[in-house]
Formats: sequence, C-alpha cells, structure tokens
Amino acid sequence: MLTFIRSLVLIACIQLQPPSDPDAIYQFSTMRALVEGQLDGQMTIANLAKHGDFGLGTFNGLDGELVARDGHFFQIKSDGSVQTAAKGDFSPLATVKFFRTDAQFQTNQSTLSEIEKQIDSRCKRNSFVAIRIKGRFSAVLVRAAKKQSTPYKPLSQIKDFQNEFNLGEVDGELIGFRCPKFTTPITVGGYHWHFLADDLHGGGHILQCTIDKATVSLDETSSFDLKLPDSGAAADAQLDGDAADSINRIERGTSILKH
Ligand SMILES: [Zn+2]
Repeated sequence: MLTFIRSLVLIACIQLQPPSDPDAIYQFSTMRALVEGQLDGQMTIANLAKHGDFGLGTFNGLDGELVARDGHFFQIKSDGSVQTAAKGDFSPLATVKFFRTDAQFQTNQSTLSEIEKQIDSRCKRNSFVAIRIKGRFSAVLVRAAKKQSTPYKPLSQIKDFQNEFNLGEVDGELIGFRCPKFTTPITVGGYHWHFLADDLHGGGHILQCTIDKATVSLDETSSFDLKLPDSGAAADAQLDGDAADSINRIERGTSILKH
C-alpha cells in the first residue's frame, strides 16, 4: 500500500513539473570549455535534434563546423566539403533551437554589420535571437576548424587551427544566434554566424560576408537551456576566468592563429 501511495505521489510530482519552454534555445557545454580544449564530443546529433531543428556548433575533436536547418544537420569539414551528419556523431559544443519566425524583413546590398544593427533595432537588448538570412551573397569568407588529435590543447595554443574558403558569389543561408554579451563565456556573446551554400558545395563559420539580396527571419526568445557535460574531462576541468580574449580571437579573427 505504501508503495502504491509513493507511486501516486511520484506521478503527481511528475505531472506538476512545468514543461520546459518549447521556445528555449538549448546549448550543450560552453565556449569556456571549448577554448580550454575540452573537445571530446558527448552529445549525439540524434539527441541535439530532440532540442532543435536549427543551430550551429562543432564536432568531436573540433572536426569542422556544424550547421542545422529544417531538421537537417550538416558537417563542413576542414577541406571545405559538406556532408550530412550521422545521427551517432558527437558534438562537444552546439547551440540549437526549434526555429519559429517572429519577424521578417528584406535586405539589399548590406554588410553583415549593417544587418546586425538592423536586427539590434528590432529586438530587445537583452534577448536571445536565432536568425536565418536566406538569399544571394556577393562575398562570403568562411573557415572550417581542423580536427585535433589527443591530448587536446587549449585552442590558443593551436597554430594550425582552421582552413579558410572564399566562396565568392553564392546562393545560401546564414544561420546565426545573437546572445547578450554578458553571457560570454557560456556563449559567444554578440553575433555568431555559420553559412551553408544552397548547393551544399561550401559553408563554414563566417569571417566576412556581404549580402546582395536576402530575407532575414528572426526568432527572439528570453529562454536558454544549458546542458553541461556530466562526465569525462570536461565535467571536472578548471574553467575559472572568462577567457573572453581567447573566445573573441577564435570567433572573430581571420587567420588569427596562423603566426
Ligand atoms: Zn562558429
């Protein structure tokens, strides 16, 4: 009888738990851990897909760039090739969301910084924003990180970190997030963009880009679900300090680590 009552209480507790916000951004691990060299992937693509159909990140051992759109997850390898990610592939860091458009506008002949200012003017200062920009681009410079071997080093100590590709004029889509700057080093505070060409012949982490003609779709949210690694080295790594300089150099710079 006691077991029966306990079961009833348990069921009641489960039912009383509020559902998680379906509009939340979901992130596995942190930029802080990544820059410290915590590159062992612990989150599968199949698991990420339960939390979002849109997003970006990287793969086990920093093996290229991750782009997700419309529920399809892609890997851009350091040779510039694009392939569909396997459900069982692992990621050490990824940010995803179920993309639902809140607002949309058209843009012509804009630099990325001009677009970012327009997005800022349309969104609350301290919200998270998922962004899709689909159309024709007049210039796109991307990078894809190179797969690292163990033992992994902090990213600031890796000289040969990335390959860069000038995609020129191309039809495609920018996949991005704007996170409040104070959320660094959990996120890339500010804007973080990846790109995927429509013909799947190129993509990567954006270094520079100019938009010819495109549609900008915004999905703004105040919710952010963070899942930290709960096993392996990342769960117990020394991650004090904000490492903002390292994060900024790795995410914004061109050829930053090629000395
Ligand atoms: Zn990136």
